[in-house]
Amino acid sequence: MSVADRIELRRGDITKLVVDAIVNAANSSLLGGGGVDGAIHRAAGPGLALECRMLNGCKTGQAKITGGHKLQVKHVIHTVGPVWNGGNHGEPALLAACYANSFRLAAEHGLRTIAFPAISCGIYRYPIEQATEIAMAETLKFLSVNDLPEKVTFVAFSDEIFQAYSTRLPA
Ligand code: ADP
Repeated sequence: MSVADRIELRRGDITKLVVDAIVNAANSSLLGGGGVDGAIHRAAGPGLALECRMLNGCKTGQAKITGGHKLQVKHVIHTVGPVWNGGNHGEPALLAACYANSFRLAAEHGLRTIAFPAISCGIYRYPIEQATEIAMAETLKFLSVNDLPEKVTFVAFSDEIFQAYSTRLPA
């Protein structure tokens, strides 16, 4: 299968997906928060927060993996995106690292399907055009040299994000 055939874009709520792993746009405490993080913790139930408490947080750009608890996924990969602070504070490299480290964890765990929200594009205010460009570039880079994950789903929670991804999908 070509790399392009391994990438899909969907509109909707990431907590409803049935995949091997969903990625959580977490904060560095890993103790839950707003946005997609809050939605994932609500849907997963309190067991997820209990498991996260054992992980001692996560640095920006890094990723950690847990079980899926009440979600219809085997794992949640928690990554901490950068807060947008003008773009000259290492934000692009940190956001790229979120994708690369999430992919690396997924491949190490033999995961075949993974879904990402638009990391940093909510409360952390990363400009959507720039964030989706990084997301797609890191995905193409990883998939072109790794067989796993077999399939990557970008989940757009708004029309604006759906549009931004759709212009970047490989032909
Ligand atoms: P961050 O703090 O990294 O910016 P947010 O959760 O605030 O994280 O936002 C990240 C992206 O996730 C935003 O585009 C937001 O619209 C989106 N989002 C929020 N809830 C969901 C959900 N249930 N499913 C998928 N995406 C979501």
